[in-house]
Amino acid sequence: MAKKPFQAESKRLLDLMIHSIYTQKEIFLRELISNASDAIDKIYYRALTDDQMVFNQDDYYIRITADKASRTLTLTDTGIGMTQEELENNLGVIAKSGSFAFKNENELKDGHNIIGQFGVGFYSAFMVADEVTVISRALGSSDAFRWKSEGADGYTIEPAEKESVGTEIILKIKENTEDEQYDEYLEQYRLRAIIKKYSDFIRYPIKMEMTTS
Ligand code: ADP
Ligand code: MG
Repeated sequence: MAKKPFQAESKRLLDLMIHSIYTQKEIFLRELISNASDAIDKIYYRALTDDQMVFNQDDYYIRITADKASRTLTLTDTGIGMTQEELENNLGVIAKSGSFAFKNENELKDGHNIIGQFGVGFYSAFMVADEVTVISRALGSSDAFRWKSEGADGYTIEPAEKESVGTEIILKIKENTEDEQYDEYLEQYRLRAIIKKYSDFIRYPIKMEMTTS
């Protein structure tokens, strides 16, 4: 399948994430959990204004699954999901990301500034993953789509299967190198500690599962 290129600004931020000069890689989890929580908020507010919809608290949660054998870390949310166009616009174009809309060249050179002050959002996944897959089904649609990228050379979008509304983000965690440890992002105790540190205030349940494929 032909890859679509990232927009220029996106590519620069991605390069920064991939060859991350930033030491606090663990914040990727905060960013993905916050997106999942935002997506559930959106479905919640929709339910408030739509008599046809019922918001059943128990149906809304974030699930984190780590699988050491396949080196995958998966975040599933039961939020509002994304259409094909939204996948394209929200994940392919960094300017859409609220946190990154106004960065200039100098700020880009200083990764600490960007990430520390504004958060980089979704692309921070590429600090710990060499491949990111997003499978999403939007509220009101029976179609699902798979967005996939191995980094700065672009992404693909294709139809997919998904039983329920929401989003699943699958990170293929990088292999350890001499200088960098990534295995820890597949360890339950480590993931729990990161969640406690940055995402303690999230108002939806965060369920954790370890699996072996
Ligand atoms: P921000 O959260 O600051 O807008 P991000 O880079 O974190 O920037 O996310 C970009 C956009 O991608 C979000 O605004 C949202 O529209 C979409 N998005 C990301 N993750 C999800 C998700 N789990 N469910 C629905 N939409 C999402
Ligand atoms: Mg975000």
